[in-house]
Amino acid sequence: MATDTAETGAEASPPTYAQPDVDVAALKVLLDGKYAAVRDLVRTNLAAYSSILEEAETMTRDEFRDRVKKVVVEMAATGQTGMGFPEEYGGGGDIGASVAAFETLAFGDLSVLVKVGVQFGLFGGAILQLGTKPHHDEYLPDLITAQTMGCFAMTETGHGSNVQALGTVATYDLATQEFVIETRGEEANKDYIGNAAQHAELAVVFAQLEVGGKSEGVHAFVVRIRENGEVVAGVRIEDDGQKMGLNGVDNGKIWFDGIRVPRTALLNQFADVTPSGVYESDIENPNKRFFTMLGTLVQGRVCVGGGGINAAKVALVIAIKYGLRRRQFEATSEDQEELLLDYGMHQRRLFPLLARTYALHFAQEVVATQLHDVFSGTLSDAKARRELESRAAGTKALGTWHATRAIQECREACGGAGYLSVNRFTALKADTDVFTTFEGDNTVLLQLVAKGLLTDYASEFEDLDQFGMVRYVAGLGVETVLEKAGVHKLLERIKDVLPGGDEGWDQEAGLLDPEYQLAMYRFREDHMLGGVARRLKRGIDNDMNPGAVFSLVQDHVIGAARAHVERLVLEAFVEKTRALPNGDLKVALNLLCDLHALSGIEADRAWFMEHGRLTSTRSKAITREVADLCRKIRPICGDLVDGFGVPVEMLRSPALVGGR
Ligand SMILES: Cc1cc2nc3c(=O)[nH]c(=O)nc-3n(C[C@H](O)[C@H](O)[C@H](O)COP(=O)(O)OP(=O)(O)OC[C@H]3O[C@@H](n4cnc5c(N)ncnc54)[C@H](O)[C@@H]3O)c2cc1C
Repeated sequence: MATDTAETGAEASPPTYAQPDVDVAALKVLLDGKYAAVRDLVRTNLAAYSSILEEAETMTRDEFRDRVKKVVVEMAATGQTGMGFPEEYGGGGDIGASVAAFETLAFGDLSVLVKVGVQFGLFGGAILQLGTKPHHDEYLPDLITAQTMGCFAMTETGHGSNVQALGTVATYDLATQEFVIETRGEEANKDYIGNAAQHAELAVVFAQLEVGGKSEGVHAFVVRIRENGEVVAGVRIEDDGQKMGLNGVDNGKIWFDGIRVPRTALLNQFADVTPSGVYESDIENPNKRFFTMLGTLVQGRVCVGGGGINAAKVALVIAIKYGLRRRQFEATSEDQEELLLDYGMHQRRLFPLLARTYALHFAQEVVATQLHDVFSGTLSDAKARRELESRAAGTKALGTWHATRAIQECREACGGAGYLSVNRFTALKADTDVFTTFEGDNTVLLQLVAKGLLTDYASEFEDLDQFGMVRYVAGLGVETVLEKAGVHKLLERIKDVLPGGDEGWDQEAGLLDPEYQLAMYRFREDHMLGGVARRLKRGIDNDMNPGAVFSLVQDHVIGAARAHVERLVLEAFVEKTRALPNGDLKVALNLLCDLHALSGIEADRAWFMEHGRLTSTRSKAITREVADLCRKIRPICGDLVDGFGVPVEMLRSPALVGGR
């Protein structure tokens, strides 16, 4: 980030402007949205268990795990963790509410959050989505109350991102009408599995199904791994031990040594094996079947993205409150040292992150609504599902990367005080770090986003592996890819906004015009996507191996996906602010939206200049505008973080945030 004032002319005295008067209560209502009551219930529960934040530092690992388990069971009794399950089993029947509850839980101890995610999201979600009524009847009532603890055993030491290559095998034994589950191969043991090391009685195990000597691909089975707390015969479990964070969750490795489960243990929503050993599925293509199964588990991804964004809010509340109290060096007065947040650099470090947190919050709201609509049946077409999967993957990637970056910057912005565990950053940093990896590694997720974009979420989407996708794109031709991805349509819109043609980019549009900002984001996305399609096609036309072509172009693929999600995030923010009635809140959110949009362009100005969309004069003007927006946000920054509604008990940090 360049802040060379001589270059940019940013040394000019700050302009005067009418400051918005932010109504914090109204802001909280806006941010909490439809599920304000659910979010408040979780806030109340978090406050009741706030002591866990301190205790986590002194408890042994076993004590911490037990404490987290107890909190999760007690929270389940309030109904907070079961909101997404059907009402007939004791759930709340509202998927949107369950996402809101989970996101809010991220204000507190994150081992509690992750244990909730494992028990209700992963384990419960798999039973609900992959199982059928007999499974629901048997397992849902007790898992919703956390009387039965379970785990979601997909990843193996040998394979994480490439789940289709798992080594665990489930063979159908016709004679006994059972499946025999076996860890086949050295690294085929399950690994990192939350709840496995101590608390889970049941596991949803993902394994290659073999029927009559034929492999039918990865399927899920319910397997009992403990009986009355003891690991059952045929199962071996090892503790994963101390982790970088989340030590209140018991992660472990699992081996299966020919353990037998009844035929009905197969979660048979998408495929079944008849007693006589016939494999049946309505989805013929094995790839499609596999991705359809995985697609039903998308809620976990939406939740982790939202959790990351809310964890970033906690860090920002602490750092901004600290910056409003902490003074260093005399600057504008000889009587008093300057507040940290009156320094331009401090504003520059924190406010773009604050603005991006707002942007991601609203983008998350869009994806959570989409999830609710798709899974409640309001939106039922297959394309909507594929778009949801892509959007969930992209928002999760950007949201969790943002959390890692924002938490680190906030820690540094609090100086030495930020390093003390009492001020929360120890746990925030350590616990959120892995959000970028679990529920899908972010880089791998962006590949999924790119695949959707390049194939326009076509029905072939799920059939295609990476190489199939390369061939598909090459076969379509660049123009068709761009046409399908809506690129030409978007470019037409850009011409409407910037009638001056290419020169119009630099001379006609105001920097604070959202249409200009969106046009820049759209141009980048379209250009990158076109470039990827062209390069993939050229490689195939030159008879290169599709895998080699993909590898060569992969950074470009990821770049295009990222540009796409950045555009979606900005659109979500612009639409939200546009819809607000005129008033101070709208003014305040417009400032944040402009700051988010322009600091995003500024961060990538080299690319925009390389591609003729920014002159050096305009680029410097953007840098000046970013600094100016930061100055405008300075008087309201305390209100803007108060609007997040992070319970004061969750802030700990008495010295940093000014006590409770
Ligand atoms: C604390 C924790 C809890 C977890 N809980 C569970 C759980 O409860 N249940 C469960 O099933 N799993 C769980 N996991 C596993 C988690 O989902 C996996 O770690 C994750 O999917 C990544 O897989 P991997 O670790 O094998 O990494 P890999 O897939 O080996 O990836 C390693 C690196 O390689 C890169 N990479 C991979 N493939 C490609 C490619 N094609 N192109 C370019 N780069 C690539 C990735 O970006 C990544 O940076 C947990 C993990 C952790 C750490």
